[in-house]
Parts: sequence; C-alpha cells; structure tokens
Amino acid sequence: MEFRLIDRIRERTAQGREDVKLGIGDDAAVVAPPVGQELAIAIDTMVEGVHFPHGTAAADIGWKSLAVNLSDLAAMGASPAWALLALTLPTKPAEQLHAFIDGYAEGFAQLAQPHRLALIGGDTTRGALAISVAVHGFVPPGKALTRAGARAGDVVLVTGTLGDAAAGLHLLQRGARLDEGDGRVAYLIERLHRPTPRLSVGLALRDRASACIDISDGLLADLGHICEESAVGAEIEAALLPCSPMLMASFDDLAVRDFALSGGDDYELCFTVPPALVADVQTDLARLGCGATRIGRIIEGAGVRVRDAQGQWLEAAQRGWDHFA
Ligand code: ADP
Ligand code: MG
Repeated sequence: MEFRLIDRIRERTAQGREDVKLGIGDDAAVVAPPVGQELAIAIDTMVEGVHFPHGTAAADIGWKSLAVNLSDLAAMGASPAWALLALTLPTKPAEQLHAFIDGYAEGFAQLAQPHRLALIGGDTTRGALAISVAVHGFVPPGKALTRAGARAGDVVLVTGTLGDAAAGLHLLQRGARLDEGDGRVAYLIERLHRPTPRLSVGLALRDRASACIDISDGLLADLGHICEESAVGAEIEAALLPCSPMLMASFDDLAVRDFALSGGDDYELCFTVPPALVADVQTDLARLGCGATRIGRIIEGAGVRVRDAQGQWLEAAQRGWDHFA
C-alpha cells in the first residue's frame, strides 16, 4: 500500500535532471552537486490545523508545502534543484488516501516543474496529517544572501503586496464564500493557499542586497530578524506599504495596515539595499515582473519603528501584534 502511494507520487512529480543519479526507490537518493557551487538547504513542516486550515484542498497543500521552502531558497539567492518529502498521513480508506496523494502531487508538481525541481526521495508514515519538505539549491561560493548584512542608511524594500494572505485566512475563518466580493475573496484566499516564491528576485539580488529574508511571520517580525542579525534598527513608513487593490477594497484602512505589518504567510521578500543601488534594483525587478517598493530605511540602533501617514510613531499596541498573535 505504502509503495503504491510512493509510486503515485513518483509518477506525478517526475522531473528529468542530469544531476540526479538515483531518485525515488532506493535506500537513499544519489545526486551530483555542481562543482564550484555551495548548497543551500532548508526544511519546513506543515501540520493540519496549525499551518493550514482543516479542509484545505490537497493540491493547495502540495503547492504551499513546496512554496514555503522555495521561498527560503529565494531569500538566500539560491536556485532550487532537489527536494525530499516526509508525509505523515492519517489512517483512511485507500481511495481517500489515493485522492489526497494525487491532489497533493498535482499541486506540488505545478510549482516544481517550472523550476525544474526534482523530488528525489522521502518518507511516508501514519499519524495526524503533517508534511515536511526539504529543498536543496545552489549558490555561488560566498554569494548567499543572509539576514546579517544590513547597514545604517540602507533602504528597506519589499516585493509584491503585503497582507493578502492574512486577510485571506481571516476571511476563510469567518466562513466567507469564494464568490463573494467580485472575486476579491477568491483572490485573497488564493494568495494564502498559493504563495509565489520570489526565486528570480532572489537571484537578481545577489551582490546587491545587503540583507534579505522572506516574510513568513509578518513584515515587522521578519524585518525584526534582519535588524537583530545585522545589529541595526529600521524605520518603516506605513503610508508606503504596498497593498493590493483587493485587500484595500475589502477592509478599512486600519485593518489593512495591521494585515500588512503583522500578517504572515505572504512569502514576499524583504531586503535592504545601499541607496546608490536602489534605482537599478527596482528597474531590474520590474523587468522580472515583480515590482519592489521602498518602505523605509535602516538606522543605527535596534528594533523596528513604524510611522503613520501623519508622521506619528505607532505604539506597539497599534501595530497589530495582538490580532495575529
Ligand atoms: P526505507 O525503508 O529504506 O527508508 P522507504 O520504504 O521509506 O525506504 O522508501 C522507499 C523509497 O521511496 C525511498 O527511495 C524513499 O526516498 C522514497 N519515498 C518514501 N516516501 C516518499 C515520499 N513521501 N515522497 C517521495 N519519496 C518517498
Ligand atoms: Mg523510510
């Protein structure tokens, strides 16, 4: 039975890569790492009811479980190559398990294929539904983007728009229907279930961004990690936060700001760039089809401060911490 499940996964995620000498089916995978490159490696676990709501479509789980890992590679400026998948599946009738696996593998493959990522192995066990994906990517020696290089004076930028995924989760939890709001609800929930890892942006930022992180826990928390690791502070202008028209049409201004500052799961990149490079970086990213917006700057000190549109500093309680804690 387990073997049939594994076969279904293998068939649906097949991806020819020269550097995979032995894929799914033996005791271990064998790969040929490219000479002269470093490996970037990440793993993330998603548990039903914790990291995705009960009832999430299998294909969405497949996409997202890979997307969150590819987002980590993007934040490092690495290009993806291989993945491992550890699946813990509840005891259910075979047809239900097969349907789940087929959906999962389809969503996974939809994201893996355009990036030529090969699933090379994994493990399958019984228990409450949980999924761990590990990814491996390549980066030239010493070129990995880290959280640690931001300097006072650098400009803080983010890709795409912020707050959509948290708004989507909020709507889902309140029982919103996908056909409500002229497609806005569907858009926001899609942003929750199907985040786009910004891999081409990560590559373009090598040698130019001084620090980079992907936004999984919310802008304030994740920019806070850059500040800690870089031993600097940051000032953000709330008025500059990029938000989608769908988000802005669905909530009042304060809720939008809270979602953008503190909502998780967007998987956009937040990065810092020396002022002289900002214009070039923005032009190049726009050419890649993923705009980046300047939202503030790095200062000496510690912590992240947010200024509202009137120039007042927000108190911690006004920054939406509580809503998403
Ligand atoms: P072993 O007992 O030697 O660890 P398994 O029976 O767990 O072998 O796995 C058999 C093969 O199937 C291995 O190559 C393993 O990497 C692969 N595999 C198992 N589960 C998965 C999965 N969920 N996704 C991808 N490959 C898997
Ligand atoms: Mg095993």
